[in-house]
Amino acid sequence: MVKNYTDILSYDQEHLWHPYTSMTNPLPSYVVEDAEGVYLQLASGERIIDGMSSWWSVVHGYNHPVLNTAMKAQIDKFSHVMFGGLTHSPAVELAEKLINLTPEGLNKVFLADSGSVAVEVAIKMAIQYQHSKNKPSKNKLLTIKNGYHGDTFAAMSVCDPVNGMHQLFSGFITENYFADAPKIGFDETWHESELDSLKNQLADNHQHIAALILEPIVQGAGGMRFYNPEFLAGCRELCDQYDVLLIADEIATGFGRSGKLFACEHANISPDILCLGKALTGGYLTLAATLCTDTVANTISEGEAGVFMHGPTFMGNPLACAAANASLELLIENNWQSQVSDIESQLKAELLPLISSKNVENVRVLGAIGVIEAKYPVNMAVIQKRFVELGVWVRPFGKLIYIMPPFVISPDELYKLTTAMAKIVDCDDVFNK
Ligand SMILES: *Cc1c(COP(=O)(O)O)cnc(C)c1O
Repeated sequence: MVKNYTDILSYDQEHLWHPYTSMTNPLPSYVVEDAEGVYLQLASGERIIDGMSSWWSVVHGYNHPVLNTAMKAQIDKFSHVMFGGLTHSPAVELAEKLINLTPEGLNKVFLADSGSVAVEVAIKMAIQYQHSKNKPSKNKLLTIKNGYHGDTFAAMSVCDPVNGMHQLFSGFITENYFADAPKIGFDETWHESELDSLKNQLADNHQHIAALILEPIVQGAGGMRFYNPEFLAGCRELCDQYDVLLIADEIATGFGRSGKLFACEHANISPDILCLGKALTGGYLTLAATLCTDTVANTISEGEAGVFMHGPTFMGNPLACAAANASLELLIENNWQSQVSDIESQLKAELLPLISSKNVENVRVLGAIGVIEAKYPVNMAVIQKRFVELGVWVRPFGKLIYIMPPFVISPDELYKLTTAMAKIVDCDDVFNK
């Protein structure tokens, strides 16, 4: 039976978990009927502009003819086949593209199902690597506070301990080492002392540390903060000094979002292990990848297990690989660099002045990411409804009202988003004061 949208909503509220929500006090959801370009068509009638790219991923917009065609062509061949003992050209083509596009030295590709799994894979790689080098006691991770790396247990163990509520899972979640988060902003004056906390952790604990994992330049879900590239360059040096691998989690930043194809390029560094996800398929399907250097791959392969210990059922899904291949080609054809720099200029012109609003603490823009940090946490139900009334989809969290629009957004559409944000920040009733 076809349900009307109010029936869909009430069944949804009664039975479906949504990300980080309550089952007894759920926030209202909106039913999407159609999506095209930067627009979401809601069943309730509104046609709204998506400012979130469905969490960093839908960079080319919805229902894109090129991506649709590529996927339909793959469906007519085969949608899935096991990756144990079998291979196929969509996966091989994707590996070649990723090796060519990513920072130098990352020559081996593990295709994973989601961002969190790509992080799990990276962590296993680091531990197997150290074990193979006869350093089994190097089996913990070092990270920085305010990070976000996903929701599975190993990924959680390197998320910010406060935001991630580690105390709730204590005894089950691995205890790792945390250094202070960098405070110096992307454009601010660099001081070497910014690295002190990390240096101290490494000096004291390096014999227990397999890898340093962090989000390069942009700390996403842990606070939407943009830090100084010198910090990342310093991390690379310290990792080399202490025989600690560097894992760059570019699941959010990868594929142009920060103004560089990969955020590591802001500091001109290559990590030993790189995690990719989110925009990899243009937001069409879940797919992620963990790349590593020849040294990491070869060392693991010569260790006690003789193999890398991971192999998901849907590894290298051909349909997802076909979407990714088409999306990567589009990125280049569409000239992502000029798309992102146009968005950046417009975000700077239209958002930075909002610093004068009485409710605003800070405004920052990097690449195609615009962040307003309010003085007060938002009231989600109220602010979400208000944004929909203003014709846009913006999903704040805590004190952060931010957008990372699809790269294909037009100046007029982006203007609608930024004017909606400007109106909202002046409303006192959208905040919990
Ligand atoms: C979203 C995200 C993840 C987790 O990816 P999922 O696909 O949600 O599992 C990990 N790291 C970063 C930096 C992310 O932004």
